Amino acid sequence: MLKSRSSCLDESRLLAVCVSIPAKINKAEKSINLSILDTDENFDLLEELKRMCPELPLAAVNQSSARAYAEYKYVYGGKNGDMIYFNIDDGVGAGIMINGRLFTGEIGHMSIDPKGSLCVCGKRGCLENLIGKAAVIREFTVRAGENRNGALHALSGGNPARINYRLIREALEQGDREVMEAARDIAEKIALGISNVICMFDPEKIVVGGGIVELGRTFLNMVLARVKIPGINGVCPDISSQIVGSGMGAAENLGVLRFFLDRIFTISVETENTVYLGD
Ligand SMILES: [Zn+2]
Repeated sequence: MLKSRSSCLDESRLLAVCVSIPAKINKAEKSINLSILDTDENFDLLEELKRMCPELPLAAVNQSSARAYAEYKYVYGGKNGDMIYFNIDDGVGAGIMINGRLFTGEIGHMSIDPKGSLCVCGKRGCLENLIGKAAVIREFTVRAGENRNGALHALSGGNPARINYRLIREALEQGDREVMEAARDIAEKIALGISNVICMFDPEKIVVGGGIVELGRTFLNMVLARVKIPGINGVCPDISSQIVGSGMGAAENLGVLRFFLDRIFTISVETENTVYLGD
């Protein structure tokens, strides 16, 4: 699929292959854990990519981290200090920038309900099971999409299978009561996840991104209004004004490319006649 989709490329001019993947990337073992993607158990993505372009450097970056890096570089000019990008898509993850270094956080498997439903990871009540795309669509469909008098029923033409983020957003903008109620409950769960992450990392900025932002400003405001920052004796600084929606959208390709270029063009050896122009 990669080859056919990039058939217009002149392979002789390729310098590297950079891919972002919604998966856990194990740097030490040089392996990729494809828990979200539906693939054969024996499928080895890294091996396949290497076989595709054996002569080229290969950079594989987790999707949340790649999106975080794009946001950090292109929206905040790479000077925003510590930042966490909360990637809420089919899966849920985080790209974490600390002192200019990029990390990946498996926050989708942070439990917010020990009695919740069983997750593929073996725990109960994982955030991903509650705010991942499939769960969010299911919640709106069950609670609002089946009401024959509701906005979501009308917008979907009475076919629950057609309910998607765009239709939910329209129903939210119309102020449909049941859709608003479901949205408030989901926003509460997302806010709980963000509040926990603030306690863990004490970041300067939080960016909410991923497909969930398609639900629009009304929904994002519901989330932001529900984030609780522990303020007793200044446990965490009040960063509520620094929790924002993504300005880049799904920019993981740009993020992984920029990450690769930045790594290559970083001066790591100081020589006697080095001249620094700016920082
Ligand atoms: Zn889990």
